[in-house]
Amino acid sequence: MANAEIGVIGGSGFYSFLDDVTEIQVDTPYGPPSDSLFLGDLAGRRVAFLPRHGRGHHLPPHRINYRANLWALRSVGVRQVLGPCAVGGLRPEYGPGTLLVPDQLVDRTKSRPGTYFDGLPLPDGSVPNVVHVSLADPYCSTGRSAALKAARGREWEPVDGGTLVVIEGPRFSTRAESLWHQAQGWSVVGMTGHPEAALARELELCYTSLTLVTDLDAGAETGEGVSHEEVLRVFAANVDRMRGVLFDAVAALPATEERDCLCVNALGGLNPGFELP
Ligand SMILES: [Zn+2]
Repeated sequence: MANAEIGVIGGSGFYSFLDDVTEIQVDTPYGPPSDSLFLGDLAGRRVAFLPRHGRGHHLPPHRINYRANLWALRSVGVRQVLGPCAVGGLRPEYGPGTLLVPDQLVDRTKSRPGTYFDGLPLPDGSVPNVVHVSLADPYCSTGRSAALKAARGREWEPVDGGTLVVIEGPRFSTRAESLWHQAQGWSVVGMTGHPEAALARELELCYTSLTLVTDLDAGAETGEGVSHEEVLRVFAANVDRMRGVLFDAVAALPATEERDCLCVNALGGLNPGFELP
């Protein structure tokens, strides 16, 4: 079985830079992930890439099978995950092209299965226990440091910390919603950061979000609001820089057995009721 140690969940612009890519299909108790896993070497590390929205970007944020995605990555050996994503800026100073590595998360989604501990039996008959993990600090401290250092090394000064609010989508925010998000002091708004981080924690995976601002959200600008075309344009203009940052961040992550962050023991020794993949 092919294996990997680091996972990257991101747009399809990212896996073309893996060497000797092996495509494998993985099934999970929750059904198939968004797409095949693409395994290859990157910066001397074994990396599994997963296109979050599937090839061709056919899955809207609320239809992504997040549980299957994290489960599939872990099942091939991944223990540290980098999750780049496009976001809207909620402050005028966070304009298009800003790289923000959040340290906090607010969940404003509505319809997504967001836990493995829902009490429902898995196909193999095992029943998850009721387990409450801490998500006080939703992101891996080691992964965040690696991402920030990688960005600075590429002369792309990142914003260190901030709150990512995740909305259900696929529509963008109204002006009132956007103004409310800003008034709360939140930094950027996206559609995929939850439940990715929470599910990673439940599987004792390290998870780091790297957000690329593609637009100012509706309440933070004076024009017509966000357009999908503008998001795609800014994303395309920054995809090479983001790849460079991911490359260096992957290289800087510790070996699996040398992780010393809190993610490693997120279950605190509690029995999840099923075998972690
Ligand atoms: Zn960690």
